[in-house]
Amino acid sequence: MGYAGLSDFYRSKEWESCRALALAERLARDGELRCERCGKAIMRQYEGILHHKEELDESNVFDPSIALNPDNLMLVCHWCHDAIHERWGHQRSRHVYLVWGCPCSGKRRFVDASRGRHDIVVDVDAIFDSLGGERSAVKSEALAMYRTAVDMVRTRGGRWRNAWIVRTLPRSSDRERLQRDLGGAEEVHVEASADECRAEALRRGGEWPQWVEQWLLDSA
Ligand SMILES: [Zn+2]
Ligand SMILES: [Zn+2]
Repeated sequence: MGYAGLSDFYRSKEWESCRALALAERLARDGELRCERCGKAIMRQYEGILHHKEELDESNVFDPSIALNPDNLMLVCHWCHDAIHERWGHQRSRHVYLVWGCPCSGKRRFVDASRGRHDIVVDVDAIFDSLGGERSAVKSEALAMYRTAVDMVRTRGGRWRNAWIVRTLPRSSDRERLQRDLGGAEEVHVEASADECRAEALRRGGEWPQWVEQWLLDSA
């Protein structure tokens, strides 16, 4: 097995190919992706999640008939996913999502549309916004707040269901390190074209256009 447990299952090769196959099968069969609970179209792959009907835990994550079985998977939108877990009272399952992508790609919009009532969001931009002032003048303080929040997620402290960590992180090595710091997290890549990001950055003004260009360079 290419994974050590639940904490890194979602970035294992086994899960990657299982996931790709499950999505490809649905596309081939229906010509599109839809939430299998509410029927809503899933326009971009990151808008959907493959839910394990028999819930994954440390005791069955190594059992391919559960963890990697297409019949145990259901493609749902994030909103329904939250509802499923709420309905069945799956208290143990707290999903941690690492939402990453270019500045101005719509990460926050995606999280706001996907999060459930009992979810928490850790977003560096939101921390800076809450402080106000010049970003450069409060950078280390904002990062300390961010690290405290990451620590809370890592220790699973507080009563919340899912956690959404919003970062740009163009390099996969940085994402892997953060996933370890979080005690495991499922990556969600919010994809938008360079032109879409540039247009939104121009709309926001300030240093955003420069941050977009830097991200595009770093991710290349
Ligand atoms: Zn749905
Ligand atoms: Zn689930």
